[in-house]
This record gives sequence, C-alpha cells and structure tokens, in this order.
Amino acid sequence: MPLLGCIADDFTGATDLAAMLVENGMRTVQLIGVPEAGQPLPEADALVIALKSRTAPVAEAVAASRAALVALRAAGCGQIFFKYCSTFDSTERGNIGPVADALLADLGAGFALACPAFPANGRSVYQGHLFVGSRLLNESGMENHPLTPMRDADLVRVLARQTSGEVGLVPYAVVERGAAAIRAAMAAQASEGKRYAIVDAVDERHLRAIGAAAADHKLITGGSGIAMGLPANFRSQGRLPERTDPAALGDVPGLAAILAGSCSQATLGQIARARETLPSFALDPLATPDAASLAGAALAWARDHLGARPVLITASAPPERVAALQARLGRDPMGRDQAGALIETALAEIAAGLRDLGVRRLVVAGGETSGAVVSRLGVRALRIGAPIDPGVPWTRAEGDGPDLLLALKSGNFGAPDFFTKAFAVVPEGKASV
Ligand code: ADP
Repeated sequence: MPLLGCIADDFTGATDLAAMLVENGMRTVQLIGVPEAGQPLPEADALVIALKSRTAPVAEAVAASRAALVALRAAGCGQIFFKYCSTFDSTERGNIGPVADALLADLGAGFALACPAFPANGRSVYQGHLFVGSRLLNESGMENHPLTPMRDADLVRVLARQTSGEVGLVPYAVVERGAAAIRAAMAAQASEGKRYAIVDAVDERHLRAIGAAAADHKLITGGSGIAMGLPANFRSQGRLPERTDPAALGDVPGLAAILAGSCSQATLGQIARARETLPSFALDPLATPDAASLAGAALAWARDHLGARPVLITASAPPERVAALQARLGRDPMGRDQAGALIETALAEIAAGLRDLGVRRLVVAGGETSGAVVSRLGVRALRIGAPIDPGVPWTRAEGDGPDLLLALKSGNFGAPDFFTKAFAVVPEGKASV
C-alpha cells in the first residue's frame, strides 16, 4: 500500500518530485491526471498525481486537487504532499493558497508548512524570502513570467494574499538547530492560530531536518526539495523497507526511437548532435500540412530504418520555419495554434505506429508533445526509473498495452548528448534489439 500521496500542479513538476522520491528510496508511480474510480493502481511506496492546475482558474484547480486527494486516500496514502514549483509560481489569487486551504479542510488538519527551497537548484528561502541563485525572486526574471509573474519575494506576504488563514515563519536560526527545534516551532505557530508557516532552508541539511520534523503532518506543501527528507520518516517508522533498487524498471526488449516536437534551443542542439550518429527523418509540414500524410511518410521511413540503432524523427524547426507554418495555418475559432496542433497529432500518430512496429523504448522531446503522445498511447501511469539527466528519468508505462519504456523531456531539459545518452543509461537488463 502506498505511504505517501502527492498532488503536483504540473506534469514536469510531478516527474521531478517522483524522481526525488525514487532517489531517496521509494518506489514511485506517477499518475497522469486523477485516476478514475476503480482504476487499478500499480504497486508503489509513493503515488504522484500530475495535474495541470498551476494556472487553471482557482475553482478548477481546487476541484482537481480535491479529487486527487480522494483518490490518494482511497489508495491508502496516510500523508499527503502538495507539490508546487520551487519558484512558488502562482498568481495573486492562487492557486497555492486556495488548493492548500481545501486540502487542509478535507484532511481535517489545521496547519501545514510551506517550503519551496531546493538549494541544489539555487532556490533558497531566508527570513521567508525566496532567492533564485543570488537574486531575490522578484529580481530573478520570474517577475516577467508570462503566466505567473512573481513580483514579491516575501513568501509570507505572497501566501497570505492567497488564503484567509494566517501565515507565519520558522526562521533560519530555528531551522539551523535541527528537527526537534523545527517541530517545536511549527507546533507553536499552529497553536498561535497560524494556518501556514513558511520554513527557511538554504542547505540540504535543512530540507532533511524539516522533513523529519513534519513526520506526523497530514499535509506538507513545497517544492520537490523538501520531499527528500520524507522517505527516511517511513523507514524509521518501520513502514518502508530498504529498497535495493527503487528505480528498477525491469527488462523491456524491443526497438528504440526518439520523437522530437520541441523547438527549444536545447532540443535543436540535441537533435543536431544525435543526427551525427543516428538515422533521422524530418517531417516537412510546410510541404504537407496534413497529420495523416506526415505520420504515414515518417512511419514508412521508420519501417526501413528501425533496427540496431534508435531512429530519430523530428518536427522541430528553427523559429523562422515555425513562424512560417504558423502564419500559413493560423488559429482555429478557439484561438488555438493550428500548426502546433497539427504536429502534435502527427507525432502522436507516429508514436502509436512505432509501438505497432515493435518500438519499446521511446524518448519524446517537448512538454505538449509528450502530453499528446501519452494521451494517444492511452498511458495513465508511469513507474519512475533512473534519471538520464536531472529532471528526466526513464519511466515504464503501467497498465494495459505492451511494455513500454518512455523518457518524456520538457524542451529545455537535458545535456547536448541527451538523446544518445538516454539509450546508454537505459535501465537494468538492457533492452535487446
Ligand atoms: P517545449 O517543451 O519545448 O515547450 P512543446 O512540445 O511543449 O515543447 O511545444 C512545442 C510546440 O511546437 C508543439 O505544439 C509542437 O507541435 C509545435 N511544433 C513542433 N514543430 C513545429 C514546426 N515545425 N512548426 C510549428 N510548430 C511546431
């Protein structure tokens, strides 16, 4: 039965959190959206439900998070973790405060800590102020974010604007004294009527101490950093065995392919690098702006080239070609970019076709592209394996359908050699081809 149930406000954040839990000894499965009632859930120590609630309207984010909570409690999770971005991405009205308020109420709890710190990634909290590297949050570039501009680094103030509850602080001087001091300070904040306390952390030791101090909290809120201290609680309670390989995904023999739909600089560089050694095929949507034809051409090529080496199929293009296709196809009546939709459909079809051709290890580049692919493949749950690069683990699709290893990469993630490295580090029992 799972011990920890997590609700993440976006997909890549969910993966990041899941990878952190695996690294710290919990077998973890990421669920894509709220599971349906009665949907069998895979065996795991932790479940992470990935929502798309970060910038959704408040009521929608609250409703989805509450539904996720119901599913996690039904699965047996005794402790709930609400994961948001390590830059506390939210609007003036929410959604961090309203979602946390609703979860606390549903859990019958009166207090939760809030800590987005992740020092290894340059996110630290001092006197309640969030720093990105050496800059305050509101001078880090995040003040210009198109959806969630962060113009105040004082998280006590930011969270207070999003909740009717009072927000306190457990400052650095207390955190530095360790778990017992933090536990006492949080208890004092709760008894003073505070609903939340921002907890300072500038170092991994602090995150682990905060995790230990929150062992008996029903709800913990934070970035993925704070989750690193939680598995140890379950081990010391005797509820989590020492896992020799929590990242094990088992043997998945089959062919290998890479699908790229991201047009980010990082992905364009990774494609250029992989083309030096792998057979590759580029879709030509300007010549053939039709998803079925694009997919048909790519799959015909793949049939002849799938084999010992992974094949690379790309839609990715530099900005001027993206702009040309966008100008040609325009927007639908709902205002959606038709070029993006066309290519997402084509790549999702190609993914399904590749699976039919025997591909069992698939790397997908692009956040939206990954969403379209997993949806087309009907994948609802991913077991999280070892990381290829930070934030991008191999995963195994759980549920019906053939065994499939997936690495889903948001555009900007990964080192220049990501695509070839992915197949060099493919999990234990190397897939045979
Ligand atoms: P990222 O993670 O880099 O943001 P996404 O997959 O989320 O990548 O977004 C990339 C978008 O660009 C997708 O909607 C994809 O369909 C679209 N796209 C890919 N190639 C092209 C192209 N050649 N022209 C126009 N749009 C494209």
